[in-house]
Amino acid sequence: MALAAVQTAFSGNPLDRAEHVRTDPEVFGAFLQRDDARVVLLAGESREADDGTRIKIPGDCRILTDDTGDIAWQGTGILKTFPTATTVFLGLEGTAPRYATMLDGSADDFQGHFDTEACKFRDGRGIAFKLSGEQPHPSLGIIAQAKSMLLWHESHRFCAKCGAESVMVKAGYERECPSCHAHHFPRTDPVVIMLVYRGDKALVGRGKGWPEGHYSALAGFMEPGESMEEAVAREIWEEVGLKATKVHYVTSQPWPWPSTLMIGAEAWVEEGDITLQEAELDDAIWITKEDVLASMKGDHPFRLVPPPFAVAHNLIMNWIAQK
Ligand SMILES: [Zn+2]
Repeated sequence: MALAAVQTAFSGNPLDRAEHVRTDPEVFGAFLQRDDARVVLLAGESREADDGTRIKIPGDCRILTDDTGDIAWQGTGILKTFPTATTVFLGLEGTAPRYATMLDGSADDFQGHFDTEACKFRDGRGIAFKLSGEQPHPSLGIIAQAKSMLLWHESHRFCAKCGAESVMVKAGYERECPSCHAHHFPRTDPVVIMLVYRGDKALVGRGKGWPEGHYSALAGFMEPGESMEEAVAREIWEEVGLKATKVHYVTSQPWPWPSTLMIGAEAWVEEGDITLQEAELDDAIWITKEDVLASMKGDHPFRLVPPPFAVAHNLIMNWIAQK
C-alpha cells in the first residue's frame, strides 16, 4: 500500500492490525489456536564473552527467516516446544491471524532446533540487506512491528509510576499496572533526518566513529515541545552552525532499533561557513548530484549513498530526481 510519494523500507506492512481482536482476550487466545494462525519467532541477540560463553545483548534481537531472508512463519503449535517470553498479536493476513513471539533466550540457544539451510535467525540489518529491492519488501514492515513491540515489552516490564511488575493487555498493545492501575503504551521515538540544500549542492556529514569516507544525511532526536520543522532547524544549527530558512517534510520510516520513527525532511540554509560540532560529527561536506552518481558507480573517493533500506538513501534519491 503506497501511501507516501517516497516509499521507505520497513513501511508498507500489509497486515490488517484488526483493533477489534486486541480488545478481547478470549479472541486473542482463540485465534492463537487456529489452524491458519502463524507466528514469527524472535530471540535475543548475543555475543561471545571474554570467557568464551555467550551472553545476551539487551535491546536487540534476531528474527527467524527462511533461506531467502523472508519471515519463516511457523504454526502456533511450535510455541509449546520452546520457552517463550512474550507473544503479541500482529494482525490479520486476509482472515488468518499473525503473531510474534519473543523466545526466552538468545537466538544461538534455539538455532540448533532448525535446519540452518532452511531457517536461520538473522539480525534486522541482515534481513533488510537481503530483502532490499526497487520497492520496500512487505515483510520488513511486519518485522518492524514485531521487533519494536517485543523489545518494548522486554524493557518495560515494570510500572514507570510505582515500580510494580505490570502485565500485558490488549494483545500486547498496552501494559497495565495491577498495583496503581497506570496504563503504559508501546513507545515510538521520533528522529528527524534531513538533506540540507544550498543552491545546487547538498550537505552530508560523517558521524563520530563512522568508517572513513562514509557520509550520510544529518539526523537527531526530536525534543519535547518541538515541531518537526523546528527540530530540523535546531539540529542543522547545532551540528554545522547554519541557519535554516525553509523545511519540507519528505517521507517517514519505522526504524526498529528499537522503536524509532525516522522523519525525513529537506531543508534550505543561508549562506555561511560550516562550523562543525565535533562531539557529533567528524566531517561535513557539500556535494553535487554528479558526486552522488559517481559514488554510486564506485567512481568517487567517498561513499555518499547509504544502503537502499535507509531513509537517507531515499532522501538522496529524491534530490537526484528533482530537476
Ligand atoms: Zn504502578
